[in-house]
Amino acid sequence: MCRADLEPAVNHLHESESMPPKPKSKSAAKKERRPKRKICTFCADRLEAIDYKDQGRLRKYISERGKILPRRISGNCASHQRALTVAVKRARVIAFLPFVVQ
Ligand SMILES: [Zn+2]
Repeated sequence: MCRADLEPAVNHLHESESMPPKPKSKSAAKKERRPKRKICTFCADRLEAIDYKDQGRLRKYISERGKILPRRISGNCASHQRALTVAVKRARVIAFLPFVVQ
């Protein structure tokens, strides 16, 4: 039983040299970001339910690869985004929309 032979002692390399002081940037580029408030198109059109057979409308909310656009990009409200997700998934099952685009 000699464990010292099995594992050689690990040499920890200590950083003897300290990092050179970084010159601080004079002024952090502060940009005022005022994102344009996106409005939910379904709310604007006063649509309660989203039709899963409405291919043209649903296509605007899927990416090139066939993925559903997130809310931060589509600008939909929470309830309509949820309804849209269900509608897109239904449309995929009946082959109106692709699951994935190669
Ligand atoms: Zn909405």
